[in-house]
Amino acid sequence: MQVRPGTRWRVLASLSVPLALTGALALMGRGPAQPARIAVVAAPGPRGVFRVRYGPASGGEMRAWRKRLRTDRVLERAAERLNAFVRLPADVVLAFDECGEDDAYYERGRVTFCYEEVADYADLLGPGATLTEVETRRVEGAASFFLYHEAGHALVDVLDLPVTGKEEDAVDQFAVYFLAEGGPPETRGDALRAADVLGRLARAEAGRKGPLPVWDVHSLDAQREANLLCWVYGADPRGFRQAVHRAGLPDERRSSCEDEYALLAGSWEALLSPYLKAPADTSATQDAGPPHR
Ligand SMILES: [Zn+2]
Repeated sequence: MQVRPGTRWRVLASLSVPLALTGALALMGRGPAQPARIAVVAAPGPRGVFRVRYGPASGGEMRAWRKRLRTDRVLERAAERLNAFVRLPADVVLAFDECGEDDAYYERGRVTFCYEEVADYADLLGPGATLTEVETRRVEGAASFFLYHEAGHALVDVLDLPVTGKEEDAVDQFAVYFLAEGGPPETRGDALRAADVLGRLARAEAGRKGPLPVWDVHSLDAQREANLLCWVYGADPRGFRQAVHRAGLPDERRSSCEDEYALLAGSWEALLSPYLKAPADTSATQDAGPPHR
């Protein structure tokens, strides 16, 4: 399945629901994943890289987020890790922008991540008017996961990768895989922060009248939450057992998670193997190590 011009692939289908939630979960963990089957093959051809852009923001809250995200180099760190990992035939821009609505999407070589989307994560994950440093890191961690989700759409598009099933689920898998295999220890729980966002959205939606959006290109938020918990656990059962247990993933699902992760990681490795950079190729970045070994 190829991304069509004019089609927007959003990170969340349902972030436009009113957000008035409080509370937070501390979900941390790390650890290496099981599969290690990558054959690195140098791919000739034109070069592109992930580039970053912080668009202007006019509103006070959005300006504050722009400043904080820039200070913490959220886009730069994502781009450096991606550039250390994969060769692109053309540039892809990772951009934060003020959009006037909460949204995040990939379209024609550009990921647009709205400051408003980040502000929504803050409403979900931070209980007070002012975020603590820990809460801010959770918000940035969730945003980073969803940036990698959008980067997954970009890879499907620019590398013309085949996808079966829902592309939205496939790129959730990419984001989990990318963090599990290559993220530095402090970022390997970012998928759990994203799961926390999805779980809180699901619980907010549960009180609404009307049919569930079963027609949407995304799986339901509660399903996506369970998937992320399962795959994170599958990548590192020892490192994430407690966190996933606390988050409520039932044993019935957990029993298949290691197999699920091995399958998805092997599939992404197979799809990306012609484009993976050799470990010695540091031409694009000096940051965190690439997710291959
Ligand atoms: Zn998406």
